[in-house]
Amino acid sequence: MQTIIEVKNLTHVYTDSENKEIKALDGINLEIRQGEFVAVIGANGSGKSTLARHFNALQRPSEGVCLIEGMDTTVEENLWDIRQHVGMVFQNPDNQIVAAIVEEDVAFGPENIGVPTAEIRTRVDAALAAVGMSDYAKHAPHLLSGGQKQRVAIAGVLALEPKCIVLDEPTAMLDPQGRKEIVTTVKKLNREKGITVVYITHYMEEALQADRIIVMGEGKLKMQGTPKEVFSHVRELYALGLEAPLAAKIADDLRQSGLNLQQGIITNEELAESICR
Ligand code: ADP
Ligand code: MG
Repeated sequence: MQTIIEVKNLTHVYTDSENKEIKALDGINLEIRQGEFVAVIGANGSGKSTLARHFNALQRPSEGVCLIEGMDTTVEENLWDIRQHVGMVFQNPDNQIVAAIVEEDVAFGPENIGVPTAEIRTRVDAALAAVGMSDYAKHAPHLLSGGQKQRVAIAGVLALEPKCIVLDEPTAMLDPQGRKEIVTTVKKLNREKGITVVYITHYMEEALQADRIIVMGEGKLKMQGTPKEVFSHVRELYALGLEAPLAAKIADDLRQSGLNLQQGIITNEELAESICR
């Protein structure tokens, strides 16, 4: 599969208001391939958002390189193309919605980049259908639930027809129902439309849905692998300020207490089955 994001020795140093240097990213090496669903987890301040912003060229490396489809994010002429390829969705849906009618909001992006009017209609309809919000096209965004608003924000990004969507804690401000809507929507976009997904979250149960999990800690890439691989390291995750999904934690506790459970239990179903066996 083709590489869409490639990061080599990516280092990012911020200078704070007192001129103190903060190394937010420290020598990250990473490749994300077209069509992958990658979750990024890590404690607060571990560098997740900074990494995400590099993928959309909102930041420039202090050292190392970030290539999006081979395009260097430090080259000014690449920025337009890079931002066509990689769309961003942020935490707060209210900050991302600009229009007073849902379909106008979704049309805002394509209008801005000069998509012909007839095509905008097609794109808006397709984007709203893809996030399950077609019935709300004429509604006022401020009357929607958090999950619905966030789906409209995702539709706004989809209308730009990106190859990759980077979502930075898109469910952090949502209730359980809203969170479920977003994860389901994003997974569907990945599986059915082949859109590459980078999904930052502090909900381990959401990260379980990904093909691969990247674990950040203190600006470094600490661990990566399938959910099974990563969540089998229950105690290493604790040390990074993270918790494995509940089933993996219970399995770990039961093993500690002497129960002979198989390795790699991460879902409730696997745990139930393993105990009953
Ligand atoms: P995360 O998203 O994992 O919480 P961030 O990428 O937001 O991590 O932050 C990584 C580190 O960089 C933290 O120590 C944070 O305080 C610092 N940081 C982030 N943004 C800035 C900024 N604009 N100026 C100075 N320091 C920053
Ligand atoms: Mg963050």
